[in-house]
Amino acid sequence: MNNSTRKYRVVEELEQIPFLVHGFGTRYWKEEDFASVQDLAVFHRVSLRQTHSDIIRLITQYPKEKMEGDVLVTDLPGTLLIIRTADCLPILIVDTQNRAVAAVHCGWRGTLKRIIEKTLRTMQQRYGSDFASLSVALGPCIASSCYEVGEDVREKFKNKGLLRGVFDSHPSKKEKYLFDLRGANRAQILALGVPDKNIFSIDLCTHCDLDLFSYRRDRDHAGRLINFIGLSQSPE
Ligand SMILES: [Zn+2]
Repeated sequence: MNNSTRKYRVVEELEQIPFLVHGFGTRYWKEEDFASVQDLAVFHRVSLRQTHSDIIRLITQYPKEKMEGDVLVTDLPGTLLIIRTADCLPILIVDTQNRAVAAVHCGWRGTLKRIIEKTLRTMQQRYGSDFASLSVALGPCIASSCYEVGEDVREKFKNKGLLRGVFDSHPSKKEKYLFDLRGANRAQILALGVPDKNIFSIDLCTHCDLDLFSYRRDRDHAGRLINFIGLSQSPE
């Protein structure tokens, strides 16, 4: 295992795409590390002021200042889309046919707003993406066994018709539920027609794995995991 695979995790199937770079950072992958990896140093990095919104930013030129939002989408080669997480689910998407990528920040609020569904529809409208041929990678996030939520959260999902298979009753606390963040987003992706074989998942729990950052575990001391995806400047 080389140095960079220890610092961030990759999905093998995406790693084989010649014009793509991507990674889900561990706690050992820091902003300054981009400059030390030749393939990544050449990219122009774009990130957002993430606010648990469903705001999608289409990058057609390099923004002069940091925008608010929770999704980055681009077909601009040489642009590295960055999403930061600590328990929330980072999702990276690539459309190899139309050469476009997206990075999505999914917490329970974004999931409730169907942020992944809106992202995929945006790619369809903007680039003509075919859901059947997209590749979608779900990064590490807090597992349902560690993700306790109250009745209020469950009620909100119920009102939006998003309840099915997403909540489990808590093993010991009566008014609490366990929320399956990964499963909830996976269900939205599948519902749009992305084939199961095109959905990849790094099934690590940020709360249990000490190589990852967890807001629920570390609270205000929690760092942020840096997740990234981009199209290379000069594709082969
Ligand atoms: Zn856990």
